[in-house]
Amino acid sequence: LDPADSLVHALRGAVAEAPDRTFLAYFDARLGYREVDELSDGVAAHLAARGLERGDRVAVLLQNSPHFVLAVLGAWKAGATVVPVNPMYKSAEVAHVLRDGEVTALICSDRAWEAYLRETAAGSPVRIALTACERDFQTRDDPRVLAFERLPQAPDADDLVTVARQGGRAPEGRLPRPDDIALISYTSGTSGTPKGATNTHANIMYNAERQATSLGLPAAPGYYALAPLFHITGMVCQFGACLSSAGTLVLTYRFEPGVVLDAFAEHRPHYTVGPSTAYMALAAHPDVRREHFASLVNLSSGGAPVPPALVETFRERFGPYIRVGYGLTECTGPCACVPPGLEAPVDPVSGTLSVGLPGADTVVRILDEQGAEVPFGEQGEIVVRGPQVVPGYWRRPDATAETFPDGELRTGDIGFMDEQGWLYVVDRKKDMINASGFKVWPREVEDVLYTHPAVREAAVVGVPDGYRGETVKAYISLRPGAEADPDELAVYCKERLAAYKYPRQVEVLPDLPKTVSGKILRRELRSRTGRD
Ligand code: ATP
Repeated sequence: LDPADSLVHALRGAVAEAPDRTFLAYFDARLGYREVDELSDGVAAHLAARGLERGDRVAVLLQNSPHFVLAVLGAWKAGATVVPVNPMYKSAEVAHVLRDGEVTALICSDRAWEAYLRETAAGSPVRIALTACERDFQTRDDPRVLAFERLPQAPDADDLVTVARQGGRAPEGRLPRPDDIALISYTSGTSGTPKGATNTHANIMYNAERQATSLGLPAAPGYYALAPLFHITGMVCQFGACLSSAGTLVLTYRFEPGVVLDAFAEHRPHYTVGPSTAYMALAAHPDVRREHFASLVNLSSGGAPVPPALVETFRERFGPYIRVGYGLTECTGPCACVPPGLEAPVDPVSGTLSVGLPGADTVVRILDEQGAEVPFGEQGEIVVRGPQVVPGYWRRPDATAETFPDGELRTGDIGFMDEQGWLYVVDRKKDMINASGFKVWPREVEDVLYTHPAVREAAVVGVPDGYRGETVKAYISLRPGAEADPDELAVYCKERLAAYKYPRQVEVLPDLPKTVSGKILRRELRSRTGRD
């Protein structure tokens, strides 16, 4: 048995090493490694008995709960490819994924099945449905996240936990192979119609094991799942890394700042990773105390820009240093990170925080428009080659050829690298604002806004302007109890940025629109302004 082949192999290794160790903690429920192995065997046996074949696709729409883990491991043990779907997706978005992924089986909450997924699935290739009540396994309800009742079992679906408990063995000969597609990950959609990146088991194992061995965690580490598991960061850096180091994964259904803080106090995790907006929300919670973070050896953030001001104020108030990482769905999570013991430098010119150093087997290059490498310090498109880069998009040879020429990932991000190899992300190429021919990167303006004490969240977009073509507009939300005058914020930026960069318009919103994984949706803000 090669432990590096897949997370199913890693599970077997963990069962052999520590069968009774808690793998999943979910409110007051604890599931050990052997138990998860047996329950996921039950799911695999059921799927195979219902005719699911090797290579078939299984969509999973669940929040951070043991059910998610049983669904994914069960599907992999049955030889299937998992299609993790954001449980907040609306019917049309799910319909796209079910059709595009030619999905055979669907595993979702009983409420979602009743509310809309039965209907959505009816017009799709789905012929096997499993529903879950995510209150199962735990008895201590937390009304802040789990305020729902168990529904009567639907006649056209089976219950996930019941089939898991029926037991049975995973079908023979279906153990995942390294090059099998483990996931079709539809990108989070901050920039258009989702495309499915095909993450292989080898892609996942590389990044999961690299995380597990490079985070500086003790033996039998505790992971807290701050990022959603359906997103590649949650899947690989939390679930995958935890499993490959036989650790304990603490799950609390969905992001709710008070619940997160309670979980930190109760479970004393060593590691978590989440978007910077999650850390901003934790820092703004009335009950937050320094002690909440005492056990966290490594606190990471990636998937979206991390303002340097957040890292500094977080360290001052709570102790931990937030380690930035950079990655994409197309490279199965991180491809650069800040290793323990080091701190990310801040670029003296732009004030941008580095997103880390590329991993050992990963080659990151910065290319100009003609595809030639630029010198250190110069901006260009970030391209990545390495064992975590996916072979391509699901059934999209055109998009695959465009994004992965020669197997190298063109990220669509503009960045630069310094002479020591530290990587900096300037912004997404497509988010650049062109103000009278001057390039404005929203990120730089946002970083300045984040240094203002009243600002909780900031997003900067281009707005059509008759005179300049485009002009800079900032949307912000305020910290609890703070007040700020939009004109004063514009002046604050003007004093700190070149004249063409400061936001000529500032609008305060109660909250900025975000994806479920916590990324601020600039696209949605832009559509308010008529640019998209
Ligand atoms: P879509 O492709 O549909 O727009 P998405 O790009 O948000 O969705 P992801 O794969 O989740 O999908 O996100 C990857 C992107 O997130 C990167 O291309 C980059 O723009 C951004 N990103 C990731 N890490 C960082 C970071 N540390 N700093 C700045 N931006 C980051």
